[in-house]
Amino acid sequence: MTTDAHALFQSHPRSYSHNKYVYPVLSRRAKGLSIGVNINPDKSCNFNCIYCQVDRSTPGTVGPIDLEALRAELEQMVELAASGRIFEGPQFASAPAELRRLRDIAISGDGEPTLRPELPQVVDICAEVRRRSGLDDLKLVLLTNGSLLHKPEVAVALKTLDANNGEIWFKLDAGSQHFYYQVARSAVPRWRILANLIEAARARPIVIQTLLMRIDGVGPSDEEMGTYCLLLRTVASDGGRIKLVQVHTIARPPAESCVTPLPDAEIDRLVELIRRETGLPVEGFYGAAAEG
Ligand code: SF4
Repeated sequence: MTTDAHALFQSHPRSYSHNKYVYPVLSRRAKGLSIGVNINPDKSCNFNCIYCQVDRSTPGTVGPIDLEALRAELEQMVELAASGRIFEGPQFASAPAELRRLRDIAISGDGEPTLRPELPQVVDICAEVRRRSGLDDLKLVLLTNGSLLHKPEVAVALKTLDANNGEIWFKLDAGSQHFYYQVARSAVPRWRILANLIEAARARPIVIQTLLMRIDGVGPSDEEMGTYCLLLRTVASDGGRIKLVQVHTIARPPAESCVTPLPDAEIDRLVELIRRETGLPVEGFYGAAAEG
């Protein structure tokens, strides 16, 4: 990869021009251009991950989402990306040819999107803009920690997602209960995450996103990795469908300084281990390639 392309993947601003909600990212995980929709400008989350890479040095913006502004930003960005004009601008001028393609609209950003009451309307807007774009293979992606998928209003959003080439990217960083509480530092009980994981994977094939890291210089233990693989096998044996496991590590400054990225060779080793132990498709992404 060229130095320019490398820098492109590392560059991951959640702002573009004067936009408040919508930003473009060259995404190796999406294998092209991803349009991010940040519905957490308030930076709210019910997890407090030790590796969180959201910049909390500045406060978020509270208040309701301006849905009409979001729609206008999204329409404009999809047009810019689908027409290819976005690659004429300075931010993506050096993007490799094979990545010059709009792949998805990803609802993600600076917090947990399922916390926002506007989620169903936001998914509706994304679906409508996608339909009008005429790009049949354009995906809608919801990045989530999975803690609130059982809520009726979130279920409404998932239904729309399912009907519009949608995908859930479910964050699962821990196999054991102990490691979950150590990493996520959340009041959400572990059983709730697991129940939602199985339910979501039974309803449609999902993507698992797992961030692995060193804590105080030490990577995940063999025991933890064994428990994690067992959990994935249990989801599958309970009727859950996992279409892909994405393994990545940190790429930007984390919440806690005890957290550092895993070296590339360690990512490769763990990807191979998960593949072997679960039989699932697994993709690894190195530190410089990670996106949050
Ligand atoms: S990494 Fe995601 S789930 Fe974890 S605290 Fe940050 S925003 Fe929340």
